[in-house]
Amino acid sequence: MKTTDNQQLTADNLTPRPPIVVVMGHVDHGKSSLLDFIRKTNIVAKEAGGITQSIGAYEIIHNDKKITFIDTPGHEAFFKMRARGAKAADLAILVVAADDGVKPQTLESIKILKSANTPFAVAINKIDKPNADIEKTKNDLTANGVLLEGYGGDVSWQAISAKTGQGVNELLDLILLAAEMENLTYNPEEKAEGFIIEAKTDSSLGNIAIAIVKNGVLKVGDQIATPTAIGKIKILENFLSKKVKKLEPSAPALISKFDNLPQIGEEFIAGHDIDVKTEREIVPETAKNKIATHLPVLKLIIKADVSGSLETLSGIIKNIKYENVGVNIINESIGGITDGDVKSALANGAIILGFKTKPTKIAENLAKTQNIKIIVSEIIYELIEAIDKEIKLIEKPRPLAEAEILKIFSRKEKKQLIGAKIIFGSIKNNNRLKILRNNEEIGFGKITSLKRQKNEIVEAKEGQECGIMLESDVQINEGDRLIL
Ligand code: GDP
Repeated sequence: MKTTDNQQLTADNLTPRPPIVVVMGHVDHGKSSLLDFIRKTNIVAKEAGGITQSIGAYEIIHNDKKITFIDTPGHEAFFKMRARGAKAADLAILVVAADDGVKPQTLESIKILKSANTPFAVAINKIDKPNADIEKTKNDLTANGVLLEGYGGDVSWQAISAKTGQGVNELLDLILLAAEMENLTYNPEEKAEGFIIEAKTDSSLGNIAIAIVKNGVLKVGDQIATPTAIGKIKILENFLSKKVKKLEPSAPALISKFDNLPQIGEEFIAGHDIDVKTEREIVPETAKNKIATHLPVLKLIIKADVSGSLETLSGIIKNIKYENVGVNIINESIGGITDGDVKSALANGAIILGFKTKPTKIAENLAKTQNIKIIVSEIIYELIEAIDKEIKLIEKPRPLAEAEILKIFSRKEKKQLIGAKIIFGSIKNNNRLKILRNNEEIGFGKITSLKRQKNEIVEAKEGQECGIMLESDVQINEGDRLIL
């Protein structure tokens, strides 16, 4: 790393950067209105007048500090996708309309924010309306696990009106405060990194992408690569459509141009000396998706046009963790969706996802007659949303406890003495348990005695091994599972 004597940076060259913020919440609760209000009141009109195209993100200055807002239609789905890989946004604002309270997409947003561990502030919106009920909204939130400041928790909140602007300044104060706690930094010496929020073909600029810079400094002349696309930065514009030579985090950037369109949500890496061919292999780290045996499993066959796309899609899917369903890619390959893929889906009970690829006529007809689902899209997050929908169809509530049978000690008619290990949860004497073999329910059993090292116990907890006297019509085998 280059350092000179007069550099006032820390040993790691870490420099503070502004927060990147997304707005989430139920439809019609005022997300766009809030983003519009903040944009209008915080970007100097003279500057804003120069905007030739809206680029899906903007930067404001509040109390002399910058904040980047992501303002992309459909960014919730995008954010969700990212929530499973690296984090795109640093902070979020959860908008809840005070005349409507907590709604399904509010709950969905809360779930996403919690699973991504993204700090957020709540904006209780529409307080100018006569039927606004701030207290009820706060109670609703508390009842749904959002513990607000002053209500036994530490989630900050602000009552606002995106229409009149009441409370919006205070909300921005909260965002800056939350950002301070996050200690957001970047290293100007490193290769530029960030993520793509939009990609399109422009008649004069070619294949362009809108990106947010998260590390390093993005410069004109840099090579740029995402897992599915490469390019060279010939033109770089800031969010006000002004041509610039470089952009620092957390600035939104318009980048021209790419050889082919990158995917929304992808990470990019850029530098003057990077080898785009190797850099494009920066597919997300694939955390192994361990599937607990008691969970229903969604089986997928995935197809894509080229190997880069396939790796990206497969990487993202493997990073997904659903609480109550396992996801298993049984086959992935490039090319069109063939009748062979449909036959394989039929044999395995799978669905087929096509990313930038299509079924052949024969495959399409076969899928129709055999009732095999084929979902194709050019956009990854649409496929991720399709998976979400499928998951909802097969999801079952997570059981309270699960034990694996390690050994059968003795059997006497219905009474079977077995050794088991508690995988999660805890089981108690007298519990009635489901018996699972190869993921299929084969019957029930009742615990009539529970022992640990010869001592009678009331409860066996997660991680413990125990002896169980189980009364059941089913003959238990080693490897079977007991579910509460
Ligand atoms: P989104 O779907 O969450 O982006 O919601 P919008 O911003 O499109 O708002 C939905 C509707 O609520 C629009 O008709 C807005 O004008 C209205 N709205 C949004 N915020 C407020 C507010 O603070 N007060 C009032 N009275 N109406 C609002």
